[in-house]
Amino acid sequence: MILKSKTSGFRILITVIAFLFMSGGFLFLLNKVQSKAPPIFELPIIVQSVPMPTDIDQNFLTQVNECFIATATIYGYTLRISSGFRTVEEQDQLYNQGRTINGHIVTEAPGGKSIHNYGFAVDVVDRWHEYNIDWKKLGKIATFCGLEPSDEGDISHFEYRSGLTTADFIAGRKPEPLILPCTIMNERAKVNQLLTFKDLQNCGVPKF
Ligand SMILES: [Zn+2]
Repeated sequence: MILKSKTSGFRILITVIAFLFMSGGFLFLLNKVQSKAPPIFELPIIVQSVPMPTDIDQNFLTQVNECFIATATIYGYTLRISSGFRTVEEQDQLYNQGRTINGHIVTEAPGGKSIHNYGFAVDVVDRWHEYNIDWKKLGKIATFCGLEPSDEGDISHFEYRSGLTTADFIAGRKPEPLILPCTIMNERAKVNQLLTFKDLQNCGVPKF
């Protein structure tokens, strides 16, 4: 009995060793085959390039013209847009100014990093007084119209991000459309009439 059980134990051991040897060899062969086969899970990475805007956002421009500039006019400003939409190349050229080409540094944003490149920023200047104007009051008018003053210390720059980061703009996201605070603003603009102080009063716009 003892001998028989020893023999069967030996048989089991041999079977296990043989199985391990064969399966090891099989795995080795499988590995060889797999390493020679073309990788089937490496799909080509599709980089979706978001097309860059080619013009200022029309909804943003309407807000600038019909609310911001029109209201500022009532308060004695004679604003004009000194810079609106810029291409990436134009922004790069501006960025290089004072760095690799002569001139003063005028921007901290290289091409593609400025909101001007996405059509949601304007720089303004007064036709008569240039930069010698009450920027604080103008900032309040801009804020009333839904625009945001620059966070980079450029007082003449107004933009509209609505919480979006520059990376969001790069990814092709756009802020929610702006809505004019008074319908009369659009009605006046359509027929080329100046907005009046009474219009603002009737609409409930606070004094600046
Ligand atoms: Zn600007």
